[in-house]
Amino acid sequence: MLTTGPRGTKDILPDTIGQWLYVEKTVRDICELYGYKEIRTPIFEHTELFLRGIGETTDVVEKEMYTFIDRGKRSLTLRPENTAATVRAYLEHKLYADIAVNKLFYIGSMFRYDRPQAGRYREFHQFGVEALGTLNPAIDAEIIMLAVQFLKTLGLNDLKLALNSVGCPNCRPVYRERLQEFFRDKLEVLCSDCQSRYDRNPMRILDCKNEHCKELSMGAPNITDCLCDECTDHFEQVKSLLTEAGIEFELDPRLVRGLDYYTKTAFEIQYAPLGAQSAVAGGGRYDGLIEECGGSPTPAIGFAVGLERVLLALEKQALLPGVSQATDVFVVALGVTAQKPAFKLLCDLRAKSIKASMDFAGRSLKAQMKQANKAMARYVVMLGENEVNDSCVILKDMITSDQEKIAIQEIVNKLYAEVKD
Ligand code: AMP
Repeated sequence: MLTTGPRGTKDILPDTIGQWLYVEKTVRDICELYGYKEIRTPIFEHTELFLRGIGETTDVVEKEMYTFIDRGKRSLTLRPENTAATVRAYLEHKLYADIAVNKLFYIGSMFRYDRPQAGRYREFHQFGVEALGTLNPAIDAEIIMLAVQFLKTLGLNDLKLALNSVGCPNCRPVYRERLQEFFRDKLEVLCSDCQSRYDRNPMRILDCKNEHCKELSMGAPNITDCLCDECTDHFEQVKSLLTEAGIEFELDPRLVRGLDYYTKTAFEIQYAPLGAQSAVAGGGRYDGLIEECGGSPTPAIGFAVGLERVLLALEKQALLPGVSQATDVFVVALGVTAQKPAFKLLCDLRAKSIKASMDFAGRSLKAQMKQANKAMARYVVMLGENEVNDSCVILKDMITSDQEKIAIQEIVNKLYAEVKD
């Protein structure tokens, strides 16, 4: 147990960190391009925030939260997503006071007690974007374009963008009634979760993963047939802006977010080669959430991308670049007398911003050369007792294998000229 991480978690080891840094750099570049600023919020929040901000009838809140009582007897929860926390920070720091539309992004760990499988973990990472303060359909289009461009920039092209509008508290009651009417005579044969959803939140029956419930909901009425004029108009504008921007989408009337504060635009991006866990991004409007969290009514929209799934997709398509972690110089010290001058040389090289390492385990020449190869060193500098006595070092070019003797006081400048100029 002491040598095994908790179920559903993964270590990111030095071998793969380069892939994460590459994806994270793509996130930062794209957010800069679109004018979104980074926000970092705590890993845990008051449990109440997620009960309100995600909804007590959702699977995430009912079954998946990591909730604990701290030593001060407060109920805290490891964040299962980051929209609610972003809204909390937005209100706490009155970000709305100076800027009409706050455009924010985050990258970080999320925690859900879910059944682990490929593409589904208990600790996973999301990159997300939130735009708070406007109902303008252009921001819906912008957000969706940002998500698509992010994935395309990484080289993922066979994406499916599913789009829907889930209406608003004005038009949803009509839809709710129509759905209940549709499911009334099927209630007995729905799964027990859906039976309880029937009264509390019938829209979520459409979201059920149970195959039998999926079949039973075939032919259910579409929300888009019940939208009020304002929601219809908003949806038309989002679709037309996306079309104009050349973004392909598929309308999916079953794509729902069944809580009152989720409104209008809802979308999901799927990458089919991922199989069962093909959803790489999900998002939508939440015009009622800021008010629900204690602010004044403020429209907002956002999405989150699952980074593990993005990395899995990139790996499947061989799209991960080989990230070089090569060092410039490896210093090989042989024998006790060489240790101090070797360490001084190491420091002098680094002082000139030359990437340098050495062995600290007092190993043989062969073992140290092996280590230099592993570190992909461009040059090796060797010094033993003879070199120390002669105030020189042996410089080995690891590409040509040429070796030459160099005075110790010249080596830093020589290497600087080789690797920096
Ligand atoms: P959600 O916050 O549920 O809309 O999820 C947004 C995205 O996060 C999904 O499309 C997935 O890519 C990713 N995601 C959600 N849950 C998990 C999980 N348990 N493990 C890995 N990725 C996840």
